[in-house]
Amino acid sequence: MGLLDNLFGGGSNDTADTTPKYTHVKIHPQVDSGIPPEDPNFGGGTLRCQCQTNPVVVEISGQTAHNHVCGCTKCWKPKGAIFSQVAVTPRSNVKVTENADKLGIVDENAAIQRHACRDCGTHMVGRIEDTGHPFHGLDFVHTELSAQKGWAAPTFAAFVSSIIEAGVDPSRMDEIRGRLTELGLTPYDCLSPPLMDLIATHVAKQKA
Ligand SMILES: [Zn+2]
Ligand SMILES: [Zn+2]
Repeated sequence: MGLLDNLFGGGSNDTADTTPKYTHVKIHPQVDSGIPPEDPNFGGGTLRCQCQTNPVVVEISGQTAHNHVCGCTKCWKPKGAIFSQVAVTPRSNVKVTENADKLGIVDENAAIQRHACRDCGTHMVGRIEDTGHPFHGLDFVHTELSAQKGWAAPTFAAFVSSIIEAGVDPSRMDEIRGRLTELGLTPYDCLSPPLMDLIATHVAKQKA
């Protein structure tokens, strides 16, 4: 085999191996065995915390957007997962309908105030109260807490390098980014380009 063949994988392009190589790498239960399809006519649903009795119930009257897996250390993750899955929806679409008294704010000083169930720890709604924040008006929600099918599918991975802060060995990053790419969840070490553009546009407008 010549040098070019070595560089380009042996000549013929139509035998490219597309078999996933990193299926042993677990990202999040919602994506590990394939990402469930989004329903274009989805009209919303109900999120429940993980309490067996008297769960906190949150109704979302519409589809979510910008769903993604997130590697930051602040987002709520199911047990054992190294990424969270989180999406946004207009805050006017979000209503706590049962056991609201069980919710408490995890960190009052964080830009996103995460309202979590005091009994099971599940984050039910992340809300931004600062009217100057680029994402003010949007709530962060974990649609995996819903029994309904058809929620917006995750489309990228945010804050991937941050999983190291949560204890993941840096030597695993290649296989983790490999798995994310295989799943179609393009890995970024910040937010996705559209969201980063939105933040920068907001900052530019504030400066103008
Ligand atoms: Zn709970
Ligand atoms: Zn996060």
